[in-house]
Amino acid sequence: MAILIVGGAGYIGSHNVRALWDAGRDVIVVDNLSTGHAQSLRDGVKLHMVDIRDEKSLDAVFGKEKIDAVLHFAALSLVGQSMIQPLDYMDNNVTGMIKLLTVMQKHGVDKIVFSSTAAVYGDAETIPIPETATLNPTNPYGESKLAMERIMRWASEAYGMRYAVLRYFNVAGAWEGGIIGEDHRPESHLVPIILQVALGKRPEIKIFGDDYPTKDGTCVRDYLHVMDLVDAHLLALEHLENGGDSFICNLGNGMGFTVQEMINAAREVTGHPIPAVSAARRSGDPAKLVASSQEAQRILGWHPQNDIRQIIESAWTWHKKHPNGYLD
Ligand code: UDP
Repeated sequence: MAILIVGGAGYIGSHNVRALWDAGRDVIVVDNLSTGHAQSLRDGVKLHMVDIRDEKSLDAVFGKEKIDAVLHFAALSLVGQSMIQPLDYMDNNVTGMIKLLTVMQKHGVDKIVFSSTAAVYGDAETIPIPETATLNPTNPYGESKLAMERIMRWASEAYGMRYAVLRYFNVAGAWEGGIIGEDHRPESHLVPIILQVALGKRPEIKIFGDDYPTKDGTCVRDYLHVMDLVDAHLLALEHLENGGDSFICNLGNGMGFTVQEMINAAREVTGHPIPAVSAARRSGDPAKLVASSQEAQRILGWHPQNDIRQIIESAWTWHKKHPNGYLD
């Protein structure tokens, strides 16, 4: 039986595909390649170029393949973009989830691991944020993911599916040796942008807001190595395969770093001065997002292994080897 990885050609999906493949699992990828890269997939991995909103084509994939469980990574995921294209986010993310669950139910596939986000919390009252915190997204991206979580919960109650909702905080870093890594077009995430400055591909990094109520005025985020995230997915899948109950958990390191601290850490790792300038706040950004990952530790026995230096070092290896991402 195969594991279907929806959005498997994207940044986080591709790292999971490779890890499952290396663990000897039968892996099948569905991706519309709107933001993903077929080159990120190892030879031998079967790719179906399908948009999950296309129910007929998705149904055909489920008819052809023997699928036991789904890992769902296919979503638009940029906070800033979601503020100006809210309906695209709702359509792609929410409609995609409805179609996927419809087809899963039709084919009797009853296990799903779903990529959710810290953005479901909005401006949290308590830091670190527990899963029980108020859910109050400050942007359409977070709103769409919250809707997806809720749709999945009701589908699971009605159809007996079991799910793992993993609420990621800020994921960065790359596969060991820089074989695969992060390549968004246009790039909007902090760590790759900082490293593009170090590579000389951008003149400077713009710091979006320096008047937040944080220790240096810049936003605080909880940065997690993509390989620690992958470990959590493997454990979540194993949990569902062993008959475990549905659950929701945060995935983060439990430590917050400001944008300024990330730039400083990257200066140390790369030896480059990385010029930075203050810019206006990016709308939709909460001031602070730091995870409590106690639930992931309790349910999955998961402990992240990498700190921000290791995250930046691994991303730096990828960027140096692939200055033009998957075009190299
Ligand atoms: N950020 C920034 N300059 C950039 C890109 C991001 O100051 O060029 C900030 C952004 O405002 C946020 C943090 O870096 O506070 C992380 O942003 P990213 O887009 O990487 O992830 P998000 O928190 O939106 O998931």
